[in-house]
Amino acid sequence: MATFNELGLGELCLKAITDMGFETPSEVQEKAIPLLLEHDTDIVSLAQTGTGKTAAFGFPLIEKIDSTSKKTQGLILSPTRELCLQITTELKKYSKYIKGLNVVAIYGGASITDQARNVKKGAQILVATPGRMGDMIRRGMVDIREIDTCVLDEADEMLNMGFYEDITEILSDTPEEKNTWLFSATMPREVATIAKKFMSNPMEITVGTKNTGNKNVSHEYYTVSGRDRYLALKRLADANPGIFSVIFCRTKRDTQNVAEKLIEDGYNAAALHGDLSQNQRDLVMRSFRTKQIQMLVATDVAARGIDVDDISHVINYQLPDEIETYTHRSGRTGRAGKSGVSMVIVTKSELRKIKSVERIIKTKFEKKDIPNGKEICE
Ligand code: ADP
Ligand code: MG
Repeated sequence: MATFNELGLGELCLKAITDMGFETPSEVQEKAIPLLLEHDTDIVSLAQTGTGKTAAFGFPLIEKIDSTSKKTQGLILSPTRELCLQITTELKKYSKYIKGLNVVAIYGGASITDQARNVKKGAQILVATPGRMGDMIRRGMVDIREIDTCVLDEADEMLNMGFYEDITEILSDTPEEKNTWLFSATMPREVATIAKKFMSNPMEITVGTKNTGNKNVSHEYYTVSGRDRYLALKRLADANPGIFSVIFCRTKRDTQNVAEKLIEDGYNAAALHGDLSQNQRDLVMRSFRTKQIQMLVATDVAARGIDVDDISHVINYQLPDEIETYTHRSGRTGRAGKSGVSMVIVTKSELRKIKSVERIIKTKFEKKDIPNGKEICE
């Protein structure tokens, strides 16, 4: 196994890595970092969530920046504001010993003039959601015509969320000779189209097997009648007292209802969905990250890409409409080599969906009974 010292990173980055407590590079880091440092190239990297992609592109990007110039040199596009903030926080840690390097996050739901002001002060790296970025380009608030590197993080998610138009508009505004680094967990046709359209002879990095779930996660399902869904959720929480979990619901309304009921019933829970203000969302995420909240009830969009350590359980209160989404949900647990459980509460009529999920994740579910709840199990 390689060490960080062998990857070609500079002293200041290595010092930051030591501070963060990273001991050895993950597989995608070991493959991507030397390649990106040595070659001026486009890359397509397929890696599951939780494999350490942020550092895999973050460190080489930082090494390429000229921090004596205030010009914007790198752009990272990422699907959600939560992810933008997370990547920005990480990049600030990576570059803490590099004087004059500024990273600015650009995302919707917060003041555009504040963000424009921060960019104007001199931001070599922008971390942006495609929607807000498009907006700021149209208003002349950012200048990405001279960037050297563009990172597309979670490209499959961005396209799932309907950002195709924004991404193409943004990329058309960047110089042709820049390098594009595309990261994605899966390779649906839209991602291949973007790669073909905007990249030239990309090198490829694949980590693990394509399209399979994380090996650290075990998958369980519990069959109940529809009216017992909530009761089943409570029993699962009671049976796992130290639970630190994300509970996925299908709609904003269900998310809000389930969270409210849990709180009423004395659980340490909160809701995260798109109808909350940015401040409320930030507050919920902060409380969850610091474990003041044990059960985060969320919609798929709100929870996308969230990297919180030590999530022990992912609970699918309902299965997602799009079966592929299950991979992203269960990827919230079992991160950074830890183990996790992904549970699904299903009714009899939804059982065939379990089979479809099994085909996609190439893993079998274990059929389980609700603890002390034989009477509510069908
Ligand atoms: P991805 O973007 O692939 O989903 P992240 O970059 O968010 O993954 O990293 C997942 C988690 O693993 C983060 O908490 C990060 O701090 C941690 N991590 C990343 N690289 C390493 C490493 N080399 N050693 C230890 N922990 C790491
Ligand atoms: Mg990531």
